[in-house]
Amino acid sequence: MRLNEQLSQLTQERFGLQPRQCDGRQLYEALLLLTRRAAQNRPAPAGERKLYYFSAEFLMGRLLSNNLLALGLYGEAKELLADLGRDLGALESLEPEPSLGNGGLGRLAACFLDSIAALGLPGDGVGLNYHYGLFKQKFEEDRQTESPDPWIQPESWLIPTGKRFTVPFGGFDLEAALYDIAVPGAGSGCANRLHLFDVTQPAPPPQEGISFDKGDIAHCLTAFLYPDDSDDAGRLLRVYQQYFMVSAGAQLILQELEERGYAPETLADHVVIQINDTHPSMVIPELIRLLTDRGMSFDGALDQVRRTCAYTNHTILAEALEKWPLAFIEKAAPGLVPVIRELDRRDKEVHPDPATAIIDGEDRVHMAHMDIHYGFSVNGVAALHTEILKNSELKPFYDLYPEKFNNKTNGVTLRRWLEVCNPGLAALLDQCAGPDWRRDAGELEKLLDFQEDQAVLDRLLEVKQDNKRRLAAALKAEQGLDLDPESIFDVQVKRLHEYKRQQMNALYVIRKYLDIKAGKLPRQPVTVLFGAKAAPAYVMAKRIIHLILCLQKLIDRDPQVRPWLRVAMVENYNVTWAERLIPACDISEQISLASKEASGTGNMKFMANGAVTLGTLDGANVEIAQLVGRENIFTFGAPSGEVIRLYRGDEPDGRAYRPLDYYHRPAVEELVDFLVSPELLSIGDPAELSLLWRDMKTKDWFMALLDTEAYTAAKERCLYSYGDRRAWAKKMLVNIAKSGYFSSDRTIRQYNEDIWRLA
Ligand SMILES: *Cc1c(COP(=O)(O)O)cnc(C)c1O
Repeated sequence: MRLNEQLSQLTQERFGLQPRQCDGRQLYEALLLLTRRAAQNRPAPAGERKLYYFSAEFLMGRLLSNNLLALGLYGEAKELLADLGRDLGALESLEPEPSLGNGGLGRLAACFLDSIAALGLPGDGVGLNYHYGLFKQKFEEDRQTESPDPWIQPESWLIPTGKRFTVPFGGFDLEAALYDIAVPGAGSGCANRLHLFDVTQPAPPPQEGISFDKGDIAHCLTAFLYPDDSDDAGRLLRVYQQYFMVSAGAQLILQELEERGYAPETLADHVVIQINDTHPSMVIPELIRLLTDRGMSFDGALDQVRRTCAYTNHTILAEALEKWPLAFIEKAAPGLVPVIRELDRRDKEVHPDPATAIIDGEDRVHMAHMDIHYGFSVNGVAALHTEILKNSELKPFYDLYPEKFNNKTNGVTLRRWLEVCNPGLAALLDQCAGPDWRRDAGELEKLLDFQEDQAVLDRLLEVKQDNKRRLAAALKAEQGLDLDPESIFDVQVKRLHEYKRQQMNALYVIRKYLDIKAGKLPRQPVTVLFGAKAAPAYVMAKRIIHLILCLQKLIDRDPQVRPWLRVAMVENYNVTWAERLIPACDISEQISLASKEASGTGNMKFMANGAVTLGTLDGANVEIAQLVGRENIFTFGAPSGEVIRLYRGDEPDGRAYRPLDYYHRPAVEELVDFLVSPELLSIGDPAELSLLWRDMKTKDWFMALLDTEAYTAAKERCLYSYGDRRAWAKKMLVNIAKSGYFSSDRTIRQYNEDIWRLA
């Protein structure tokens, strides 16, 4: 049946109306149901071995357009709606974004699911069905406030499966109810599933803010993603969440194995588990527990499990490598304690080095260490990151198991991050490179033949300009922000963290402000856009948001500066905003302290949409620079080797990093001191700004001051070169042409060839 007939039937049945008589919400709901059903009815990919991708978060974004596209119904749906005088984008704006993730790690998991299904590989996601997400961000009095971010409505993408599993916590059992989201693959004709476990009686949202009873496990376990872990109750809740996810997930795996007619003794032949960061690490002991319960010996179970589990490391920030007190695991998952102790005992027998211990001298369990000892693969997420893991961060493990280590440079799905979010550019690419780039992103290189084609270069600039206007209109309508689309859009959007160095970008804004005040005008007006959520307990991050919002207000009120420089911080940065910001960006800010950003994926999305990167040689920026060449990227700053040596204090001259040395440079001091200037103190909170000022010059753990001068100089060069429109358009073109390497289809092919071996 054609889409229009299906739609009429559905709106008749459900609302007793013809599509033409439906309001927007009814039409949206009908389309949701149609699309959900079509995805649900698709067969699962065939294969002897099936992947389960375990992740604490999946940052899916809205799904209507994406799923219509994957189902091959996108064009038809658009036309059908146009006939009804409706717009697909407007209907989709009624869809709440699933609150199932928060940042790059979760978005990577979502891109991977998209590519796995598109390549026709059997692979499901496994996670938790959070009700209120991380939080919804608002700005009030130049500060971040947090409230719940509910997304589950009577009709959503969730499919109740009716399946339940019992999770044995210490002292009580809890039922895990399974919901699925179907993940249709573009061009493959099949669909995988995202399996989401939930409590059976979820708590209603908190009345005010995001605090709730962290001890009420039975009702609140799936309320929030990453509940505040600044106290023991919060930390314990995270362990409960993790165990709930992996225990139910492991039971599902064994159930499906049996349904497929295979014995538990053949687990490794038929299942592979990817552990996305350390949150799902307890799946290792849990599977051993379940297999021994089913009659296998410990040795037999361990042999299967260690050939089934593979681990992805996402960070080299020490504080993010989870270590749980054994006492917490005893409380939440007592059944795992004997297993973990036995794994630790066996390991220590062969590897007595405390640096690689699973249980340390303070009775804490190092989750990553368990993954590395008892998984068969350890991968980093960009070339530089994997090298740092091998040579410094995880060196003792690399010495033990060199064969386990491998790199899988991250990627993004160009279906969502180009085709759906930037239709103007997608059409131009079809014209120049043909439509095959959707299937084989390497085809984008054909664009290189048009470097000297004035019409194509002009069209690239026009598409960018249209996207800037669209973004400005959306920000005006939804957040009351006034942007000048004729100015340069310089964008830094990502989680707020000191290592990502939004504070350094803020110092640049101050530089520009002072210059303009002194009569030194830029060649062209510039708008510096930020978007970032700060973890609710991360005080420093919140102070940086406060600083940016104060600068925004200061400049907004200054008629002398405003025509030349504007700052805007987008509220509640999420996938929906990313899909508008990225196509509209001229300069992509990727300025993390070298060695600290494992890969980044924002950098890849910006590049594919024709933004030019201003960045450090960190994460995947290094690979971007190699691909596009020196003329098409602006890099700056201390290289990772130097940074690593500075942290260790073993530069050849014995130098360690002292922020005051850099603060006292005249070009830096006046910028930092502006935080406590009368202008800024009259707008912001004097105590907060003073504390930020003090920490920036005395602590500066992520060395923003080290690179401030180099950053300022590089940014000046970058902004200046924007003025040569033809040369800039060529840079855009080369970036787009070379972005095919960062398709997550490529990443997933590599995971499959080197780790999963699914088919
Ligand atoms: C891609 C993406 C991220 C990750 O951005 P990075 O710059 O790689 O940290 C975070 N949030 C959203 C909404 C994204 O789309």
